[in-house]
Amino acid sequence: MIKLASRLNTIVESNTLRMAKLSRELQAQGKDVINLSLGEPDFQTPQHIKDAAKKAIDDGYTFYTPVVGYLDLRQAISKKFEIDNGLYYTPEQIVVSTGAKQSIINVLLSILNVGDEVIIPTPFWVSYSEMVKIAEGVPVYVHSNVTQDYKPTVAQLEAAITSKTKAFIFSSPCNPTGSVFSKEELFEIAKMFEKYPEIIIIADEIYEHINFIGKHESIGQFNFIKDRVVTVNGMSKGFAMTGWRLGYIGAPKEIAQACEKLQGQFTSGTNSIAQRAALFALQSDLKPTIEMANAFHRRRDLVIKLLKEIEGLKLNIPEGAFYVFPDVSSYFGKSDGTTTINNCEDLCMYILHNANVSIVGGDSFGAPECVRFSYATSDEKLTEAISRIKNALQHLK
Ligand code: PMP
Ligand code: GLU
Repeated sequence: MIKLASRLNTIVESNTLRMAKLSRELQAQGKDVINLSLGEPDFQTPQHIKDAAKKAIDDGYTFYTPVVGYLDLRQAISKKFEIDNGLYYTPEQIVVSTGAKQSIINVLLSILNVGDEVIIPTPFWVSYSEMVKIAEGVPVYVHSNVTQDYKPTVAQLEAAITSKTKAFIFSSPCNPTGSVFSKEELFEIAKMFEKYPEIIIIADEIYEHINFIGKHESIGQFNFIKDRVVTVNGMSKGFAMTGWRLGYIGAPKEIAQACEKLQGQFTSGTNSIAQRAALFALQSDLKPTIEMANAFHRRRDLVIKLLKEIEGLKLNIPEGAFYVFPDVSSYFGKSDGTTTINNCEDLCMYILHNANVSIVGGDSFGAPECVRFSYATSDEKLTEAISRIKNALQHLK
């Protein structure tokens, strides 16, 4: 028998990827499953970016790349941070990685010692907690619920700080809630952290472009904390480039250098073709990105309208990303005569088997009273999926 490392016992499988895998398996068996579990734009990568990648191959970009990424790409990211976000990271402070996922684990592995605490507001993206554990840190959750638009108060965050707190990580726009922090809210959070100069702030801005309320705001824009803000971003969401695997950070120089050292032993530089395509994407017109964001906005309105017609769901109005995260706890304890729903996982399985729609339970996002719908799919599929769910839920009494 093969004995695995005990590290595996401390972490759980990514629930988003597990549900996506399950719905693919059911689809392969011929079941008409509508997949609302995976957070991935349903759009193709814009043609001009694909063309840039093809050209990169023909131009000979086929060799190992510098561990931190090509200099011209890091220059373009540095400029993007400045122009779009009011952030000042020199190219030496930028590290390009194989997806924002790798960017985040690089940072956590670079800063955490055993037992160091990381404050994570819940609901949070599934991988934050597990990555902290992989780095032998301790996730410290700060709970907020639908009535707070899933945003913790500054007082709640401050109450979670201890002498062991090393970092604070959050996403805005948020996966899974779609909540967006305003400039004023970020300023208040930053002001509080100003009192704790040891704490590193990790701002995950991967949904920057999918924002329905206007300008995206970054916490690193405030001068009094900017020297300890790591800003995470990438190409997956805003440019429909999930499969290309390209993420990046702007970070204090020491952290960027640590990430280079780690990444140099793990994966080396990011794929050369993806880097050339990303450079081209960042330097070209954002029209396709804006069109995709507009489509997500329209779908958000559609999904909210349809979900409001289902009894017993408590909703916030997501202002960004492409998720809805209703509180479904009013269904707990109900039964259709055969199946009793005891928790969000039971409800997801009930919906999967009775409505042929795959969604994700909120427990892995730190909110066991909720479920997550990804609305990154067509209007027709969304309308059909929610109608099926409505029918299935009507049988629960
Ligand atoms: N952060 C958040 C909040 C996400 O939803 C995702 C999506 N997987 C990532 C980071 C990682 O993105 P990627 O690795 O595709 O760049
Ligand atoms: N971020 C996406 C999601 O939340 C992709 C899946 C993943 O990487 O976990 O569904």
